[in-house]
Amino acid sequence: MQITGRTRITGLFGYPVEHTLSPVMQNAAFSHLNFNCCYLPFSVSPSALREAVGAIRALSMLGVNLTIPHKETVIPFLDSVDAEALSVGAVNTIVNREGHLAGHNTDGKGFMRSLGEQDINPAGKRVLVIGAGGSSRAIGFYLAREAASLSLFNRNRDKAAALADHLSEGGRTVSVLASLQRMTEYDIIINATPLGLRDSDPLPLDADALNSSQIVCDLIYRKTPLLIKAQAKGCRTLEGMGMLLWQGALAFELWTGMLPPVEVMRTALLNQTTM
Ligand code: NAP
Repeated sequence: MQITGRTRITGLFGYPVEHTLSPVMQNAAFSHLNFNCCYLPFSVSPSALREAVGAIRALSMLGVNLTIPHKETVIPFLDSVDAEALSVGAVNTIVNREGHLAGHNTDGKGFMRSLGEQDINPAGKRVLVIGAGGSSRAIGFYLAREAASLSLFNRNRDKAAALADHLSEGGRTVSVLASLQRMTEYDIIINATPLGLRDSDPLPLDADALNSSQIVCDLIYRKTPLLIKAQAKGCRTLEGMGMLLWQGALAFELWTGMLPPVEVMRTALLNQTTM
């Protein structure tokens, strides 16, 4: 992409940002569509967040993505926040509409798209999510609505209970587990903890308790030891790369109003992770 007088800017605010896979994915999409825009990583410390958000307006940026630790703390600096991001309590995408900064969250929808493209439909299914952090909140927003039942397990049980209360609004069935037993009661099991980022991590659950009728998902972007063990037990598995892809594709669409070139973005991501 040639930088010209018309080049627009978008990017990622995080702290740290060095390990992000988003620039390669988003810049591949801009290049493919000849859309004159550049996606850059910005290392923004928590104390600089307000100023950095102001710069989105000042520099007429298209918008930005947000990652740890800014997804929640950015909300007071925005002009509006959509219903989903408000419910999740976190924003991962800001769109600059002529100086009006609108907050969105594409993580939950991104996860649902990644299920959908594998023909995995949680409707009528019993779903278990392990973890009660930001990503559990984001995917829980959809799963609580669509699954027959949603169960949460977290090492900090109070946090899982608070999330279950929140997701139960509107009479949905969300329960909290005291322990990870009776794993066979679930059709879809999702790891939403960082366990598996390192090969030395313990598994988030006892993989021997899985059976081949179950689907096991991990939000981590690679084939984790959990997914390898689940496959060995005959389970269908899904890694977090699809969620990363689709949350980015949905952000691209919000910024540009164009259909994202998803396969171009997927190839860029996969090339990067196999490098
Ligand atoms: P988070 O907000 O920090 O929440 C992490 C959750 O995992 C918390 O519930 C925490 O429990 C639990 N946890 C952390 N360390 C643990 C351990 N050693 N043993 C058991 N439980 C542990 O993080 P997040 O944003 O939800 O992200 C979770 C993972 O999802 C990340 O590692 C990331 O790889 C992945 N992710 C992927 C995507 C994607 O696009 N694919 C997007 C977002 C996140 P406590 O409440 O007890 O602390």
